Amino acid sequence: MLYSGHLTVGFICFCILVTILFLFPLQQTVSFKDMPLWLIICLFGSLTPDLDHKHSKIHKWSYIGSIFSGCVIYVLTREVYQALIITILLLLIVFLLSKLKHRGITHHAPGFIIFTALLYIAFYLMDFTSPIIITMFGAIGYLSHLFADYISTSMKVRANRK
Ligand SMILES: [Zn+2]
Repeated sequence: MLYSGHLTVGFICFCILVTILFLFPLQQTVSFKDMPLWLIICLFGSLTPDLDHKHSKIHKWSYIGSIFSGCVIYVLTREVYQALIITILLLLIVFLLSKLKHRGITHHAPGFIIFTALLYIAFYLMDFTSPIIITMFGAIGYLSHLFADYISTSMKVRANRK
């Protein structure tokens, strides 16, 4: 499936999760002003599994995204070494992921668990009021990718059998 298809499925999942949160608010206060961030994280999650494909859009964008993240960290903290180390780590992770087999670990449970854990830790460390809610949006985006890939692959297999 193309990245635009994954973004569409991710957006549909985002709308479903927002509706669920609106209808059944959790005990924890949910701040709907964070909605733009939820959307960005959900769409990011919906493309993340394809970081293992060096010609994917998310892979190409991630190099620029890593440098941009480093700049944002520097502007917020004024810690040049911290920003530099995080940037180098992100660039290294993106590079190493592109060396993996496409639709391998990133398209299965271990990739999902690692992504969800890292997302939670990052937002927890950044002191967000509801890191669990933001993580839920990343997780649903990620799952939407695995689901869409699974459906499109099984449709192709069925079409080939005919
Ligand atoms: Zn994929």
